[in-house]
Amino acid sequence: MFKGKVAIVTGSTSGIGLGIAKELARLRADIVLNGFSDAGEIEAIRSGIEREHGVRVSYDGADMSKEDAVRGLIATTAAKYGRLDVLVNNAGIQFTAPVEEFPAAKWNAILAINLSAAFHGIAAAVPLMKKQGWGRIINIASAHGLVASTHKAAYVAAKHGLIGLTKVVGLETAGSGVTCNAVCPGWVRTPLVDKQIDDNAAQKGISKDDATRELLAEKQPSLQFVSPAQLGGTVAFLCSGAADQITGTAISVDGGWTAQ
Ligand code: NAD
Repeated sequence: MFKGKVAIVTGSTSGIGLGIAKELARLRADIVLNGFSDAGEIEAIRSGIEREHGVRVSYDGADMSKEDAVRGLIATTAAKYGRLDVLVNNAGIQFTAPVEEFPAAKWNAILAINLSAAFHGIAAAVPLMKKQGWGRIINIASAHGLVASTHKAAYVAAKHGLIGLTKVVGLETAGSGVTCNAVCPGWVRTPLVDKQIDDNAAQKGISKDDATRELLAEKQPSLQFVSPAQLGGTVAFLCSGAADQITGTAISVDGGWTAQ
């Protein structure tokens, strides 16, 4: 489906981003991986995807908290591959605290990585995609882009902002062959959520299994986690011809979280 196309997935050394990168590679896109981990693990991921799917896979360690690095990731990819077809803005971090105790440095970091990085990446990618007459921008937002929870001021603000950005870019690219959409996952079992489960278990003095059950029961009516592979499938759908007229919108993949 994507033979000859080039996709950047930010934050793809782990979790959801890795699931998306694998699915796009399975559909034959060349992939630019990004994110942090130790060099050996990154190389194992890179060469593993390349071997399994017979596509080109490269790694760029650009720090998504830095404007120049984000814009550099787009420019380097375009120079290396001669094109950019899909940009998945996925890198993200979390921190929880009541608003009056929320450290300003954590607020700044979450806004930079979860929101501003998408702006810089999109600003650099749109001219290339418009010139090509085709492009797909997919912002991994969250159920927290649509509704709030306590103790997540920065994350909820960033994800709501990301959906606003998605709408503006959808309008500005309408009719150009470029689309921009957001995907809003509910709970996905990744290191980002595992930390919240561990924190809750420790705080309440309950087992990790009980904390996991509580986490799902509180928000996600299906009582099941969304998988990174399912989100890869959602992104692939948004890149397909069936989605040519889907733009500027947010698609929930949340087991019913935001239907309540
Ligand atoms: P994760 O912690 O497993 O992966 C995060 C990725 O981002 C990693 O590859 C990490 O190295 C990378 N990253 C972090 N800071 C970076 C930086 N400064 N520069 C470059 N890369 C950086 O988390 P995940 O759960 O897979 O989250 C991925 C995205 O999905 C995030 O935007 C998150 O907000 C969103 N999301 C997650 C869930 C969930 O339940 N896990 C739900 C909704 C939305």
